Amino acid sequence: MNIKRNVLLNPGPATTTDTVKMAQVVPDICPREKEFAGLMKGLRSDLLKVVHAPEDEYTSVLFCGSGTINIDICINSLVPEGKKILVVNNGAYNTRAVEVCEMYHIPHINLKSSVYEQPDLKLVEQTLKENPDVAVVYCCHHETGTGVLNPIREIGALAHQYGAIFISDTTSTLGMIPLDVVKDNVDFCMASAQKGLMAMSGLSFIIGKTDIIKASKNYPTRSYYCNLYLQYEFFEKTGEMHFTPPVQTIYATIQALKEYFAEGEEAKFARHRAIYEAIHKGVDELGLKTVIDPKIESGLVVSVLYPTDPNFSFEKVHDYCYERGFTIYPGKISTTNTFRLCALGAINANDIKDFFVVLKEALETYNIKVTYND
Ligand SMILES: *Cc1c(COP(=O)(O)O)cnc(C)c1O
Repeated sequence: MNIKRNVLLNPGPATTTDTVKMAQVVPDICPREKEFAGLMKGLRSDLLKVVHAPEDEYTSVLFCGSGTINIDICINSLVPEGKKILVVNNGAYNTRAVEVCEMYHIPHINLKSSVYEQPDLKLVEQTLKENPDVAVVYCCHHETGTGVLNPIREIGALAHQYGAIFISDTTSTLGMIPLDVVKDNVDFCMASAQKGLMAMSGLSFIIGKTDIIKASKNYPTRSYYCNLYLQYEFFEKTGEMHFTPPVQTIYATIQALKEYFAEGEEAKFARHRAIYEAIHKGVDELGLKTVIDPKIESGLVVSVLYPTDPNFSFEKVHDYCYERGFTIYPGKISTTNTFRLCALGAINANDIKDFFVVLKEALETYNIKVTYND
């Protein structure tokens, strides 16, 4: 089968291999069959390997939904009665966690800081010192909206020092930037299959400490469908998801994990890095400006400032590139106009070279000058 290849430079879903696409075409199967439970068992244990989580301490729990379901579940399930969650917030994805707290009326501290910078660890520590009722600290590993990488190992260490658990939203790093949950002080992390693992959308998973999940049985229950303990318990009893799983996405994810281990953690990390460097090179050559200091960038997302030439139209440039197989994506900074170029997926540095040829053509076609009035 010949499937058109698109180079997705949006922050997920990512470009997939044809073998992952084709892995979805399988005989119909009822997901309550033992055969399917067996597949999920292997998948759950492979997910632990991706983040070097020891099987005797950590477990992985699968959910049917996009990545945000993990944020919802972790927050609504893991805050004990009478305790607070501290959200270390420097961007749109951490803000999403704050919104989940608001929606469930969970006592929380929104420690908000500049979206252009990493959080201030001294302020995190001071907040923990002043609020002994904080039981959970939460911070996104990589603020996908800007490209800022957060110092989760240090934040996790602070959480533990002050007796709290640490949850990190690793949706946009897992499978791309090596993560070791033990060394990185992460009690709970999460992702969905369509990002770093280069599978399809519809499957999300939380990897976390088994004893904490067991303890959460006695925490306030705030959701029926999205409760971590309930789903964990069902998996332990039956090997199945409580409700219908995304069957075909699970087949694709199993294939994607095979390809992940075949490529190798370090080699994959190096490939993403090479894509990121090619993006910066192309951006520099066109005279485009970026908004985040490369020293704190994840190496997976580059936020590019709109040129100030009145001829510039994101939509026109986007459509020109889209028609030629390249997808670019708007930014997520409310005060500045940016678009994003991301290094996810089954692509390589040559795809980025090809993309910049097309982007340059787009700018010429619409007579857009790359200028900035500061
Ligand atoms: C993509 C992403 C999510 C999940 O977004 P969905 O649209 O629900 O899949 C969550 N957190 C981060 C950091 C992400 O990059």
